[in-house]
Amino acid sequence: MPQAFANDVLIGQGAQPEEVFILSLKKLETQTIFIPDSDAELVETDLLIIGGGPSGLTAGIYAVRSGLRAAVVEREALGGQVATTPIVENYPGFTSVGGKTLVDIMVSHALQYVQIFQGEAVMDLQVGKPITVVTTRRKFLTKSVLLATGATHLHLNVPGESRLSGRGVSYCSTCDGPLFKGKKVVMVGGGNSAVTEALHLFHMGVDVTLIHRRDKLRAQDFLAKQLSDNNIAVLWDTEIKEIRGKERVEEILIVNNKTNESSTFETNGVFIAIGYTPAVELAQKLGVEVTADGYIKHDGKHRTNIPGVYSAGDVEGGYKQIVTASGQGAEAAMTIFEDLINPYWLN
Ligand code: NAP
Repeated sequence: MPQAFANDVLIGQGAQPEEVFILSLKKLETQTIFIPDSDAELVETDLLIIGGGPSGLTAGIYAVRSGLRAAVVEREALGGQVATTPIVENYPGFTSVGGKTLVDIMVSHALQYVQIFQGEAVMDLQVGKPITVVTTRRKFLTKSVLLATGATHLHLNVPGESRLSGRGVSYCSTCDGPLFKGKKVVMVGGGNSAVTEALHLFHMGVDVTLIHRRDKLRAQDFLAKQLSDNNIAVLWDTEIKEIRGKERVEEILIVNNKTNESSTFETNGVFIAIGYTPAVELAQKLGVEVTADGYIKHDGKHRTNIPGVYSAGDVEGGYKQIVTASGQGAEAAMTIFEDLINPYWLN
C-alpha cells in the first residue's frame, strides 16, 4: 500500500504497523510511532523525567537500565528542538539524518525501557517525601525529578521569519550551515553565539555578513577580533524589519537605526542567534536556583539546590548540542541512581 488517505487527508505512506495506522486514522495525520496510552490516575516512580528531548529520553534509558522505575512526561512533541531540525549531520553514527527521523529512533529506543507520557503538561510540583507531580492527566509520586525542559531560541518576530523558517531562516549554523556553502547569508546578533556561529559559517565556506543592532559587540574581544582578522563584513546599528522570499529567503529589509535609512539586502539565508530562553518556570516554582543567564544552577553531577531535583540538557545552558544533551541526561540518571541508593543529603 503506497499511500493511505482518509477524508482526503494523507494519513500514511507505505506499510505501517497496525497500531500506528490506527493512530494515524484517529488523528487524521501521519503518525510514525505508537506510544501506548495509559489510564492510570496515579503513577509511582523512582525518577520522573520532565521533558522528552534527547537529554530526557537518554536519562530514561539509563535510569531504567540501572534498575530505577522511571517515566518521561512531555507536554509537546517528543524530541524538542531536534524534531524541527531539517538535517542533523553531527550526531555520531549518522552522517546525515533528518531531525524527526533521529527523534523517532531515539523514542523507539527509549520506549523499550521507559514509559513515556506525551501530551501531558505538568501543572503542579510539590517537594516532599515523595515528590508530588500533577499533570493534566494524572498524578505522579516520585523519589526524584529530572528537569530536562530545554530552551528555545529567541525569535526576531519580524514578518517572514516563521513562514521561511527551515527555508533559509535558521537558528542553528552547526545544523544548517553546510547547506549554504558557497552561498550568501546573514548572521543576526552580537553575542558570543552569533560571532562564534558567523566564524563557523565562514570556515565552512559560506559568505557571511554579521548584522548587529548596536555599534559594539557583546561577544568577547577574542572572538570579535577574529571577525576582522577574517574580513567578515559587519552591518552595525542595523535591524532586520522583514525577511522576504517566495519559497525560500531571497532578501531582507533592513534599517540603520542611527540614520533611519532603510534598504534591501540580497541573501540566501538568515541565521538568527540572539539568545535563548530556558524553560525554567517549573524549576522556579519548585524553588530551584537559576544562574544570572536564567539557566538552572547545578553542580557537576547535575544536582540542583533542592535534594532529589536534578537538571540536564539545554535548560542547564552550555553547548546546546544533541550529543551534549544526551550525555548530560546519561550523567544525571547515573547520579540519581547513586543518590537514591546513598542519599548525599543524609550524609
Ligand atoms: P547573548 O549573549 O544574550 O547575546 C544576544 C545578542 O543578540 C546580543 O548581541 C543582543 O544585542 C542581540 N539581540 C537580542 N535580541 C535581539 C533582537 N530582538 N534583535 C536583534 N538583536 C538582538 O546570547 P548568546 O550569544 O546566545 O549567548 C548566550 C550565553 O551563552 C552567553 O552567556 C554567552 O556568553 C554564552 N556563549 C558563549 C560562547 C563562547 O564562549 N564561545 C559561545 C556561545 C554562547 P545587544 O548586544 O544589543 O543586547
